[in-house]
Order: sequence, then structure tokens, then C-alpha cells
Amino acid sequence: MPEKSLIYVPDMAVLSQRNAEEIQRDHHKRWGVATEGVVLPICTATGVPFKNDFTAEKTIRYKGRAEEFLLGNVVAEFAKLGLDIYLTLDPTLHFIKSDSLHIVDISGDSSAQACFSKKRTKKLLTHLAKKAVEIATEECARARGTHGADAKTAGVAIDLTDILPMGATNERIELTCFCNECRQQLAGYAPRGRRLFGYFETFPNPWNMTLKDAGSGIGQINELDWNISPERIIGLSKMKGFESFEDREQDPHEQATALIEYLHARHTQVTETVKDIFAGMELNGEKRILITEGSHYDWTSGTFLEKLDDKGVCDELWFDPTANEFDIRKVQYRSFLWKRSTYFLNAFFQFLNQSQDHYARTYTGLARHTVGEVEQLLKLRMRQVLSAAVTEKLDLFLLPDLDEEGEAGRIGFISPCIDESICLSLVEKAKVPEGTNEDKGNDDPKDMLDKLVGLMGLHPGTNY
Ligand SMILES: [Zn+2]
Repeated sequence: MPEKSLIYVPDMAVLSQRNAEEIQRDHHKRWGVATEGVVLPICTATGVPFKNDFTAEKTIRYKGRAEEFLLGNVVAEFAKLGLDIYLTLDPTLHFIKSDSLHIVDISGDSSAQACFSKKRTKKLLTHLAKKAVEIATEECARARGTHGADAKTAGVAIDLTDILPMGATNERIELTCFCNECRQQLAGYAPRGRRLFGYFETFPNPWNMTLKDAGSGIGQINELDWNISPERIIGLSKMKGFESFEDREQDPHEQATALIEYLHARHTQVTETVKDIFAGMELNGEKRILITEGSHYDWTSGTFLEKLDDKGVCDELWFDPTANEFDIRKVQYRSFLWKRSTYFLNAFFQFLNQSQDHYARTYTGLARHTVGEVEQLLKLRMRQVLSAAVTEKLDLFLLPDLDEEGEAGRIGFISPCIDESICLSLVEKAKVPEGTNEDKGNDDPKDMLDKLVGLMGLHPGTNY
């Protein structure tokens, strides 16, 4: 049975460099297999590319066309090639300026990213996804009528990879989200209720048993699965030289138990939110898909991958197959051919979009940097995303077997349609507006180096 493959468009900015035909041709050249469909983003870090009730539409530049495009125009270009349309929903909604939706870390600091589980975020996400599905379905019908093309809206994927960003300062691990709504929901799922938070509002705390501030990023213990025992956590902590509470007044067993309780409560909270959002979309045969990085417990998505293998939660999973092996038996899955799935792709395009956005350059953490600094940081992120590429035919050969019956198990792969020349061209053409700090330009090489090193971490999305 041949591999079924999908093209992943990480950001509409790619379309200013390559049109639909070129993207389809490049994919075939890279992998030697035809594609069944294309995956398009519902929104980006700086806006929504269609008319909606909440924000002005953000137009798209399309290669070779003078007029600006919206989502519908882009769908039309791919649909007339007979490609099925998949839509991705990135719930971080970085373009939202209202504090009331923003995530809050354990210490009470907030950042400009929407909290996935807030009632209002869910409503907004549902509205955007519903509208995007409507647009895609209309355009597919039109492509069928005009070109006889066999295209349909095939699925909606929620990208979970960075819904709960984390950071670290001086050994202190700062996890999100602990806003009032999250606290209330988590307390409802944890046997200890609100008492659970007390274990984490101190230092060291149970997170330090499995996470460690490594200076340039956060180191972690990889083998956290749903049924892990407190004893095993303590053992792994000791082995890796993480905090094991051995010589402390706290009881290691109690600390490890609180950690497991937190992980279970968080997983339940995220999956309940996922169910709510999919239910709200009122899908009509389109598949419910989730994107995660491909680790056993994924800290920034708050989920255990093997527990997402559940028809009650989704129909299909997309994750990077290179880090771990999983036995997915109930739902279908596709291998996402980029290290850590969409994580670095999102970080790069988020930075690319925000660095050119007047609002971000005036009111966010980005305002502090001079134009020269932002351009350097952009190049660094580009190298980071390109170094995570999985683009060799050998990688395809190494994937797990396809499921023959097609009911559950692996059904194919997804490949992002970017390469070095596309990224270089996007970075070179980026027009970075002046920030608020231009005249205080910093030429101290040490300072500059610190900033760059800060961005090299495991979690680049959390630096701003
Ligand atoms: Zn929250």
C-alpha cells in the first residue's frame, strides 16, 4: 500500500513565495509520492484571513497575483488541483490584545497568548473554525462545479503543541496556565482539589523532579506515561540528577504523587476542552484531528499521547515519529515529518509575523529590541526551524508500517512545504518597523549573545 501524504502549509506567508501548483510539484519531487490534500492555517500570530465577527480580516499575498487573497481564494487554488482541504486551528491566538484571555503562569505573571480552556477562548475558537470550515466547503463545491475537481473539506486539526508554554528562571520552572478558570477546572479534576496548587507554589516543587532549568532550555525526563508510579519518578529523578527530595523535609513519595495528580488533572482538562471545541464546530463528517509533538507526556500541550488514542477525543493524531514509538490502536495517525511537529515552525512564523507588526513592535516584549537585533533574532530562528527539518527519503523508509485495514493505526505522513530558499527569501524581505528602543541601540556583544542564547532554548516560544 502506498503512503498517503498531505502537504502542510505552516503559514500563509509561504504563499507569497510559492503558488499551489509549485507547492504540489515540490512535494512530489521531495518524496516521490503524490499528495491527497493540503493543510491550511485558520489564523496566524497576527490575524484571521477571513471576515469574522471579532477582528478585521488579515489579507494574504499570493505569488504572481496583484490582488490580496483571503482564505477562500487560497482554498480555491488548492481545491482546483483536486486536493482535499484540512484546516489547522492554532489556539494560541497571539493577535488578541485583551488581557482577559491571556495565560497566567504559576507565579501570577501573564503573557500575550490565549488560555486554551477559558470559556471565551473556546467560544472564539469554535466560531473561527466553524466559519473556516464553511468557507472551505463552499470553495470545494465551487471547484467541483467549475473544474470538476474532486476536493472536499476533510478535517480540522487543533494544534496542541504550545497551548501551555513554559519558561525557567534560576531553576524555577514556570508552567502555565493557572488563571482563575484553569484553577477552578483543575481543582475539579484533582482528588486534592485546590490544595494541589500549594505543592507547586513554592520551590523546589514536584515539577523539579522531572524538569530542570538547563540554562539554554528545559531538560526533562522522557518516560512519563499515564501509569507511572511515584517510586519510578523518584528513581528517574535520582538517576538524572534532578530534584528527588531525598535530603529535604518534604516526603519524596508525597511530592511524586502530587506531580502525578497534576499531570492527570491537566490531561483531563485539556481533553475536555478539546471535546467541547470539536462538539461546538458541528462537524459534518470532517475528521477531528490533534497535533502533538510526539513525547509520552507533552508538557506544553498538557497531554499524554497514548491517552489521546481515544475515539471519544479525536479521529486522528499527527505527531513527530522520530523521538518515541507509540502503539496507537484505536484512532488513525499520520507521521508529522518535522522534529517536534509544528513547534519550531510555529515559533519561526510567529516571530516572522510579529517582527513586522506595528502593534507588536510598540507594545510587546519585541519593542525593546532595535531593528538590527530583531533581524538577527529572525535569522537565528530560521536556522533553528531548518535544523528541525525531516526531508530525506530515508526518513520515509524508516517510518512504522502502514495499517493495512485502514481502521486504526498509521495511514500516512504530513510534510511541511518549506525549505531554506523559501525561509531565506521571507527573512530577507521582512520589513521590521522601528521599536521603542532604537536610539538606545545595544552594541555590547555579550548582551547580544545572551539574548541569542536565550532564544536557542528548548522553548523559544516563551521568550516573549
Ligand atoms: Zn487558564
